Amino acid sequence: MAQILDGKELSKKVKDGVKVKVDKLKEKGINPKLAVIMVGNNSASSVYVKNKSKACENAGIDFEEFFLPEETTEDELVELIEKLNQDKLVHGILLQSPVPKHININRAFETISPSKDVDGFNAINVGNLTIGRDCFVSCTPWGVMRMLEEYNIDVTGKTAVVIGRSNIVGKPMLQCLLSKDATVTICHSKTKDLEEVVSRADIVIAAIGKPNFVTGKMIKDGAVVIDVGINRLENGKLCGDVNYEEAFPKASYITPVPGGVGPMTVAMLLENVVKAAEEKT
Ligand code: NAD
Repeated sequence: MAQILDGKELSKKVKDGVKVKVDKLKEKGINPKLAVIMVGNNSASSVYVKNKSKACENAGIDFEEFFLPEETTEDELVELIEKLNQDKLVHGILLQSPVPKHININRAFETISPSKDVDGFNAINVGNLTIGRDCFVSCTPWGVMRMLEEYNIDVTGKTAVVIGRSNIVGKPMLQCLLSKDATVTICHSKTKDLEEVVSRADIVIAAIGKPNFVTGKMIKDGAVVIDVGINRLENGKLCGDVNYEEAFPKASYITPVPGGVGPMTVAMLLENVVKAAEEKT
C-alpha cells in the first residue's frame, strides 16, 4: 500500500520558506513582484491566474494582472512584454497559456527576459537546464523534484518513465530526473508497447492529459507514481492521468489529484519569483 505524497501540505512548507525570504528582501527595500499576462477569455486560465494571485498575496509578493482582449496582436503582446522587461519593479513575468491562435506563443516566450522568466519557458532557460546550469526551471517538474527530495526518494540509478513530451512538463521533467542520475525514458503518443515500458519503471511520471490513462496493470510493485494530469470529468470532479484506485495498492508512493503536484506548481512559481528578485540584489 502506498504512502501518499501530500502536495498540499508540502506546498505550505515551501510557501512558508518563501515568505521568510520575501520578508528579508523587503527589509532591504525590495518588493518582489510578479506580472501575469492573459490574452483572451479562458475560464480555466482565469482560475489559474486567480490562484496565483492569491498565493502571491499570501506570500507578500506584489502581483499585477494584464488582461488583454482576444484581438490583441502578437506585436502588441511583445511590446507589453518588452515594457515589463524594462520595468525595474517587476521581477517575474508570466504569460498564461493558451493564447489566441493568431499569436505565436514561442515568440512571446522568447521575448520574456531570461532573468524574469519565472516559468522557465524561454529557450535560454531550457538550454541552461539541459547543460546543468543554474536557471529557472518550469514550475511543475521543479515541484515534482522538490516533492521527491522532501520525501527522501533518491532517484539515482532508478528507472524513470515520463509519459508525455510537452515543452512545459514532459521534456523538462526528463532533464530534471537525468540531472539527478536517473535512467530516464520518455513515452508519447507514438510510443510502441507503452504498457511494457511503463511496467519496468521504478518511478512513473504521468503528464498526458487523459483521465485514468495509467492503469494498475502498468505499475510495477513498489513503484513511485507521480500524477501530473488534471482532468475535469463530466460530473465536474477532477481526476488525474493515473487510475488511483488501481495504482494505490501497488505503488510505494503516490500523488493524489487534487492535492498532489498542482499545489507544488504554484509554490515553485513563488520560489522562482523570489529567486528572480534575489538575483537583482
Ligand atoms: P500536452 O497536451 O501538451 O502534452 C500531452 C503529452 O501526452 C504529449 O506529449 C503527447 O505525446 C502525450 N500523449 C497524448 N496521448 C498519448 C497516448 N495515447 N500515449 C502516450 N502519450 C500520449 O499536455 P501538458 O501541458 O504536458 O499537460 C499534461 C497534463 O498535465 C494535463 O492534464 C494538464 O492539465 C496537466 N498539467 C498539470 C499541471 C499541474 O500543476 N499539476 C501543470 C501543467 C499541466
